[in-house]
Amino acid sequence: MATIELSNLSKTYAGGVQAVRGATFTIKDGEFVVLVGPSGCGKSTLLRMIAGLEDITDGTLTIDGRRMNDVASRDRDIAFVFQNYALYPHLSVRQNLAFGLERRRAYPSLLTSLLSRDYRENRNEESARILAKVDRAAETLGLVPYLDRKPRELSGGQRQRVAVGRAIVREPKVFLFDEPLSNLDAKLRVEMRAELRELHRRLKTTIVYVTHDQEEAMGLGDRIVVLKDGLIQQLGTPDEVYAKPANTFVASFVGMPSINLIPGRLHRGDLVERFVADAITIDLPPSMSAKAPPGPITLGVRPDRLRLGAAATTSPWRGDAQVGAVERLGDRTDVILRLGPHRLVARCDPRCAPVEGGTCAVGIDPADVHLFSDADDGDRLSKSD
Ligand code: ADP
Repeated sequence: MATIELSNLSKTYAGGVQAVRGATFTIKDGEFVVLVGPSGCGKSTLLRMIAGLEDITDGTLTIDGRRMNDVASRDRDIAFVFQNYALYPHLSVRQNLAFGLERRRAYPSLLTSLLSRDYRENRNEESARILAKVDRAAETLGLVPYLDRKPRELSGGQRQRVAVGRAIVREPKVFLFDEPLSNLDAKLRVEMRAELRELHRRLKTTIVYVTHDQEEAMGLGDRIVVLKDGLIQQLGTPDEVYAKPANTFVASFVGMPSINLIPGRLHRGDLVERFVADAITIDLPPSMSAKAPPGPITLGVRPDRLRLGAAATTSPWRGDAQVGAVERLGDRTDVILRLGPHRLVARCDPRCAPVEGGTCAVGIDPADVHLFSDADDGDRLSKSD
């Protein structure tokens, strides 16, 4: 168990690339924190700095109050699971799990006994203790039936579990995961996600996890850290980040399909604030945009908040949209709409799906909108409470 504190942590690579800029946050003891962002945003660099695999250019990293900047990776009491977890192909699952301890160099007798033909006869007290740990990890991960198999005799998901198991047997203070599920197919990724959360619930070890997949981040993290160009854009629970995105970058990155962002203007009258974008005119709740000066502004509305067909009739604002592509996804339907110059994506109940090429009523409720400044990655202007 461990608390990790990052204070103004920065990394500039030899070529001058500023991969991480001034990262400051605290990962609480036992927390599952996910670093997420598009490729190149600096998430692996940040994780590798925590791991001690990358020098820290500036700032301070502490684990349980102890400064780690100059502490070697092997002395940080962490275990790392990479995307390309290499299992030893000629060793059994049991041996692979035990080799998670290899770096400690403290168990030569264990390794000797494991490599001997009949490891159970040839073990001493210490190796018995280690093998008990291996058995426990195997049980935790459902690997008991496979302990004597070689990696090639396992499915992708089982191999991934062995890689996680190798980290578990070391009983580290912190687990670091770098895109560990990327090589698995979509269905298995979702299953493994649930397994990892379950595992975390049982072990209660601090976890820092890197992924570019926003859904994986939302599904796994107690809190998520959204990064872009080496800068933290937002840190919060999945619900907070989804409901109150800090800027248009976060709003677009989190949630699928992406939020609709509509450029328009804010008008402020004596009694009412109004958003106008061509045919779209939305009277906003009182003082919703108190921070925003009248003028250009971006309005965001999530696809599942657009009301279509009959559902639009009670909306404070509604208009008629042209229906483009309709994607039927079984439990839901995604619809591309054109409303004047605006392209909108709506996610609706399959029963109300409109017809491609036709028209459809679309409604927006002011309670469902987010307001952002019109700048690139414009900041959130809606009141946040
Ligand atoms: P992510 O994990 O989000 O894809 P990285 O942390 O790997 O991003 O990389 C962040 C930035 O740092 C990128 O611009 C990348 O090209 C650069 N970078 C990563 N590793 C190195 C390196 N060893 N030397 C120079 N630049 C690097």
